[in-house]
Amino acid sequence: MKKLAQKLIKNHSLSEAEYELLIKNRTPEIAEILQNEAVRLRKQVYGNEVFLRGLIEISNYCKNGCYYCGINCANKECNRYRLTEDEILNCAIEGYKIGFRTIVLQGGEDNCFTDEVVCDIIRKIKKNCPETAITLSLGERTKESYQKLYEAGADRYLLRHETADKTHYERLHPEKMSFENRMNCLKNLKEIGFATGCGFMVGSPYQTEENLAKDLKFIEEFQPQMCGIGPFIPQKNTIFANEEKGTAELTTYLLSIIRIIKPNILLPATTALNTIEEDGRVMGILAGANVIMPNLSPKTAREKYNLYDGKAITGEESAEEVKKLEKTMEKIGYKVVYKRGDMREYRKEDENGSI
Ligand code: SF4
Repeated sequence: MKKLAQKLIKNHSLSEAEYELLIKNRTPEIAEILQNEAVRLRKQVYGNEVFLRGLIEISNYCKNGCYYCGINCANKECNRYRLTEDEILNCAIEGYKIGFRTIVLQGGEDNCFTDEVVCDIIRKIKKNCPETAITLSLGERTKESYQKLYEAGADRYLLRHETADKTHYERLHPEKMSFENRMNCLKNLKEIGFATGCGFMVGSPYQTEENLAKDLKFIEEFQPQMCGIGPFIPQKNTIFANEEKGTAELTTYLLSIIRIIKPNILLPATTALNTIEEDGRVMGILAGANVIMPNLSPKTAREKYNLYDGKAITGEESAEEVKKLEKTMEKIGYKVVYKRGDMREYRKEDENGSI
């Protein structure tokens, strides 16, 4: 296994079968080797900086029925909300005053957020919050729609692929959702010029090591600018309510591998990781992540944006508490920074031969 870890460190690439072996036969010793390399690479590209993104959860209406998701359309218990344009803009301005220079607009696939509405919001945020990057996370849309959002000024788009295995995808989603369309959307986003983010759940129902190996190979080939991974956490009103949750151990192991595959990737320590482990965010940063997304949504909306149970919404998870977050990061040798935090260059030839 050590040889395989070293091969990954040297080439930033393995075959799917090798990734599978690296996951199946992981040991604390291998995890430490990969973690050390991930931290070294992250420091080489980003120093000790941790980028902040201000997250606004704009709507928990969604037309889709993803089986794992607490706000899926089949959940009659979900208390639905939709922020108004003014509320979204005010959240963004509040975040701007705190210092955030990336605003993330995230929501279910809500038909009320037409291209016209979203473009208008993008333009208003850009006008009121100069030099701020806008990341969208609004699910699958047509290429024409993505193009309009890009032209209105959106900079980045996050669309988790959830699993790179078609059969697995079909076990997590209802029939009318299509794996091909998800992958096509990601391709379109990249072609248009968005800084594009994919991502997946760790420990989702039916997931095998082979599936995870496919996810890693997909990331290696797709070369996204961002990648969001977090443990699967069951939500009580879904058909997966009684499934096992994912683990922080495997999530952090995969974070380190992803950092090594793409040393300059923007990699968040996600809220889900912080939900299953008290210091999950610290664990994520120490495994190679370099982004944190505090919540700027109105407090009432945060509780209702209930993708999974027990979501961390207070303390350092909220934007008002970023000072605490700064201290937590300082304690482990990192510095929270408020700039846009775009992906930086990484050139293999800059390596100093420390591998
Ligand atoms: S995962 Fe996204 S697309 Fe699926 S139901 Fe939830 S909000 Fe909708």
